[in-house]
Amino acid sequence: MSLSLIAAVLCLVFHVSAPTIPSVSSAVSASQPKIKLIALTFDDGPNAKITPLILATLKQYQIRATFFVIGLEARKHEELIKQEIEAGHEIGNHTLSHRRLTSLGDEKVLGQMAGAQKIIGDKTAVRFIRPPYGSHNARIDRLAKRLGLQMITWTLASNDWRGYPASRLTQQIVTLARPNDIILFHDIHSNAAEALPKIIQGLKERGFTFATVNELLQPGVKLPCGIEVH
Ligand SMILES: [Zn+2]
Repeated sequence: MSLSLIAAVLCLVFHVSAPTIPSVSSAVSASQPKIKLIALTFDDGPNAKITPLILATLKQYQIRATFFVIGLEARKHEELIKQEIEAGHEIGNHTLSHRRLTSLGDEKVLGQMAGAQKIIGDKTAVRFIRPPYGSHNARIDRLAKRLGLQMITWTLASNDWRGYPASRLTQQIVTLARPNDIILFHDIHSNAAEALPKIIQGLKERGFTFATVNELLQPGVKLPCGIEVH
């Protein structure tokens, strides 16, 4: 199953299951301009070289984002996790060692989830888990729920891991972004760090307000269907 299809399925699930409570944006009165929220997310860190660059850019623009960290990397780079938390960013669980969860038995899946949770969960509240490769199903979701974690993937994939130049990432993301998009980057790729200032500038010019995943996923919020940079 392609990543975009997974995201599309997720989108469908959210549309069907979302309770009919007014969202943050729809709760804003008609006299006020509608808030267009967007969430920047960074996977696979912390990374000694790239994460500090990302953190510096987010600080410069006073934006909070969400980092889905790998447990073993978080253990290696405790100082970066501390910096992320102190800057008000949200931390999510991206498993202990980045295994494809759908290929593992229940006990190993729980081990991957709980192992990361043990490393990061005593430092900050963790509500979400993002499965490596976006690979999950009903069984994986149930196991996450057992640990009190909610599964989340993304709606706009930058595909920075393909090595696209920063200019291409910037142009496409700024053009493609929609309200309530959860944008996937990796804080292990230099092109993402290089593109980030211009992506933020472009999204600001389009009137977006930046939110963490927790802030974005208010009850009743409608996520756009999954798309990706080509
Ligand atoms: Zn990952």
